Amino acid sequence: MRIKGNLEIGGSDVIVMAGPCAIENKAQIHAVAKTLKSCGIKIMRGGAFKPRTSPYTFQGLGQAGLELMREVADEYGLFIVTEALSVEQVPLVYKYTDIIQIGTRNMQHFPILWAVGETDKPVLLKRGFMNTIDEVAYAAEHIKSRGNQRVIICERGIRTFDTKARFTLDLSAIPILKSMTGLPVIADPSHAAGHTNLVIPLALGALAAGADGLLVEVHPNNEIALSDGQQSLPLELIPEFILKAENVVMAIGRQMAK
Ligand code: PEP
Ligand code: MN
Repeated sequence: MRIKGNLEIGGSDVIVMAGPCAIENKAQIHAVAKTLKSCGIKIMRGGAFKPRTSPYTFQGLGQAGLELMREVADEYGLFIVTEALSVEQVPLVYKYTDIIQIGTRNMQHFPILWAVGETDKPVLLKRGFMNTIDEVAYAAEHIKSRGNQRVIICERGIRTFDTKARFTLDLSAIPILKSMTGLPVIADPSHAAGHTNLVIPLALGALAAGADGLLVEVHPNNEIALSDGQQSLPLELIPEFILKAENVVMAIGRQMAK
């Protein structure tokens, strides 16, 4: 499936999308973009509209965040993935992003699925953390039913009885969803893990299970991150992470997108 230009997902190349949970300021986004560029990562993630559990925490910079992210991404020649939280936000997010993200909490909000289904940009659909594999497959169908066939599914962890990790990354969902839907399936080890030290092992497991890509949270300074610092990879760890990922994908006959 074509993302943009000659960047494809779902073939033999594996794509990494990385960036902060939330876009915070220019210095943060510059530091992230510079590192991504130097590590060969082509897609920058970052939220401008954040679906935070508590309404008393940082909710994102909104349109200013989108503008900042677009400006910096263009400067470094990166693509963007960012979330639209509501139907009304779809046209605004569409204007700035290359891939529209639908978050876990909105996976079955059918009006937003229809709204992105009427656009011509790829949609990153995150599995609801309380949803079955069938339900995420049907959610993808809702998007496709409005015309947009470019849906990328993301396994980001589901809620189980265990609480040691933030969620439980459902590795089975990766090969199952790939064969059920024929769509590219990526994994988000960061939200599943909830802890920085679990991110790389979960990412490598997802790649071994056949994930077509990864969505990873990174931050220049976890200590002062306004959102999800506890699960972000420090920028210094990215080269080592990419090297390990490269080794895993090579072992299963694939390669990292160049
Ligand atoms: C995110 O990726 O920014 C995010 C909020 O993830 P999720 O919707 O999976 O919680
Ligand atoms: Mn996050």
